[in-house]
Amino acid sequence: MKRNIKLSLPHLTGTEQKYIDEAMRDCWIVPLGPHVDEFEHRLESYLGCDDVVALSAGTAAIHLGLVMLDVKAGDEVIVQDLTFSASANPVCYQGATPVFVDSEPDTYNMSPSLLDAAIKDRIKVTGRKPKAIIPVHLYGMPAKMDEIMEIAANYEIPVLEDAAEALGSEYRGRKCGTFGRYGALSFNGNKVITTSGGGALICPSKEAASRVKFYATQSRENRPYYYHEVIGFNYRLSNISAAIGCGQIESLQDRVDRRRAIHRLYSEMLAEVAGITVQDNPSPEFDSNFWLSTILIDPATGILPDQLRLALLEKGIESRLLWRPMHMMPFFADAPAYVDGTAESLFNRGLCLPSGSSLTDEDIIFVAEAIKSYFDDHSI
Ligand SMILES: *Cc1c(COP(=O)(O)O)cnc(C)c1O
Repeated sequence: MKRNIKLSLPHLTGTEQKYIDEAMRDCWIVPLGPHVDEFEHRLESYLGCDDVVALSAGTAAIHLGLVMLDVKAGDEVIVQDLTFSASANPVCYQGATPVFVDSEPDTYNMSPSLLDAAIKDRIKVTGRKPKAIIPVHLYGMPAKMDEIMEIAANYEIPVLEDAAEALGSEYRGRKCGTFGRYGALSFNGNKVITTSGGGALICPSKEAASRVKFYATQSRENRPYYYHEVIGFNYRLSNISAAIGCGQIESLQDRVDRRRAIHRLYSEMLAEVAGITVQDNPSPEFDSNFWLSTILIDPATGILPDQLRLALLEKGIESRLLWRPMHMMPFFADAPAYVDGTAESLFNRGLCLPSGSSLTDEDIIFVAEAIKSYFDDHSI
């Protein structure tokens, strides 16, 4: 029996059309407007912070975060090695160099001890501190933010959190994205909620937020003619996209709860399969949104993640290998990297399972049964 079970698809609330109709009726079909404002306010109240700026993509949010931190050509920025390339690419947009830091195995995220070692070594080698640190909350799992923030504070280096996958995740009762000086969110089609494409930057103050909006709208100075003192960007979220976001955010907590329930079901069903570990919160301080549930496969089973992926695909189940570490990408081959093999080992052993909030328990049970039967037949 073949199904069609995808990794993470958009999940409609049902009220999106109402907001889109409002925007169309009032002809707010531009990259600003009442729905952009409303979407920002709803994000702020959900996150428990002020000063969120809606942007055209999570990548744009990371880019403008770097601009606000004055990252320029010749600077270095520390970036988590195990991540999506969009965490690192904006560093290059600014002409700066990413310095990759490996993960620790509990969260798959930036290792605090390697971070400290990397900063010390960069100061020794270049005579200058890295300009910023970009930790990522991968698959929704919070990074060890207390330790990372303490190290960052010791060296007085600002943190830009990549919380693209972690909307709704909490660390010690506080929402991911609100720890660093800046925090980036994504509303791409595969994320927890979507605006079809979009993102947001969580800012430290009203002034910072208004500067971000200025950069995002071509850095146009307040004069009767077009006049620019600094380079600008066209990064604001369209009001139509924000209207979709206004509908989506109504069910945000339900979507997060559903992803957590999917993770619990996988954990229960796969608990007794020898050689499989479902990633879990390492302690009660961590509360992942479980954007994607992931498993690690013990190499002693003789099963490679890609073999399992192909077997699942035959049953109509989409799964995906973990992110490939950045230091293993051809275009980052020359970037400094402080790695101890953790990210590479996770990449070699891991698989992301279908986790979209629109999947039913029956879908998840079908996936878990398919994994079990593959392990029964192929494990050595
Ligand atoms: C999705 C994602 C981004 C980029 O967000 P876009 O909205 O697609 O530009 C950045 N970092 C991580 C870790 C992501 O998963």
